[in-house]
Amino acid sequence: MDPDRLRRTLAARRRQLTDELARLTERPADPVGNLSFGKRIGDGTNEAVDRINTTAAARSIAASIAELDRAVAKLDEGTYGRCDRCGRSIPLERLEARPWTSRCVECSRLGDSA
Ligand SMILES: [Zn+2]
Repeated sequence: MDPDRLRRTLAARRRQLTDELARLTERPADPVGNLSFGKRIGDGTNEAVDRINTTAAARSIAASIAELDRAVAKLDEGTYGRCDRCGRSIPLERLEARPWTSRCVECSRLGDSA
């Protein structure tokens, strides 16, 4: 795979995720602020659920950005295409589908997304 093209792909993807994260976290300030605690329970609950969903989405995007940064670091280190956990090479078709991946399929399945 052409490393320059790869870097461009990763950079473009990163920009996209960064924008998405910014949109998610940059919410308009609540004009009533803490006063909304006194409102009907339903309102507060919906708002809380909404906030939890946003937090989860933001966290998953942040994790993807970290993954991208790791992939770029691997390109710099010359370890790109090698699994961070077990050191085996990552199959090309996986890299083509997910160029930002830094783990092989088995290691990714093990869970922790670090
Ligand atoms: Zn592995």
